[in-house]
Amino acid sequence: MAQMEGNTQPESASQQPYVFKVVLLGSSSVGKSSLAFRLIKNDFKEILPTLGCAFFTQMMEIDGSALKLEIWDTAGQEKYHSVCHLYFRGANAAVLVYDIADKDSFRRAQNWWKELENEFQPEEIVVILVGNKTDLEASREVTLEEGKAFAESKKLLFMETSAKLNYQVTEAFIAVARELLRREEENGG
Ligand code: GDP
Repeated sequence: MAQMEGNTQPESASQQPYVFKVVLLGSSSVGKSSLAFRLIKNDFKEILPTLGCAFFTQMMEIDGSALKLEIWDTAGQEKYHSVCHLYFRGANAAVLVYDIADKDSFRRAQNWWKELENEFQPEEIVVILVGNKTDLEASREVTLEEGKAFAESKKLLFMETSAKLNYQVTEAFIAVARELLRREEENGG
């Protein structure tokens, strides 16, 4: 059973937590900051304050293992259709976000995937494709099947979310954390 533990050390996990760097990627306005804000503060703001920093930490406990996710937000760098190499450096996971009501953001997510492919070997990084804003179903431009098909073709995790309605946000990060742990254990962690 997975548990979210705010920013505090989970009591039951006595060992040092695993620390993983998770980068958020995707075009502007798809909801990257809102997803991070929802995960960390369990809140949603129509107009997000400038968060001032592009780095958050979130503790989790999964099946008795403590994890610390260091979540990096692009802080607007994606407007230039790229991010600096430092952003990628040492990343263990990427959350690749598009807006289900914006076909262009889905196309751009595929371009971001190519950037990831250039930077990492597949076994080096866990990637989840996230179709955000499911509350905008009436204006949907990317079907669930299209999202799934792309994710399957590239062997990515996949989830649709709504940061606004708090739909599957925690679940998406838990899926990433589980896969990170699974790989860590597979490698003798
Ligand atoms: P970022 O540029 O990718 O970090 O996107 P933001 O998190 O700043 O969000 C861009 C806009 O989309 C803001 O107006 C948010 O309020 C809105 N937004 C984010 N997530 C959702 C969602 O799940 N549903 C809806 N309807 N709007 C969202």
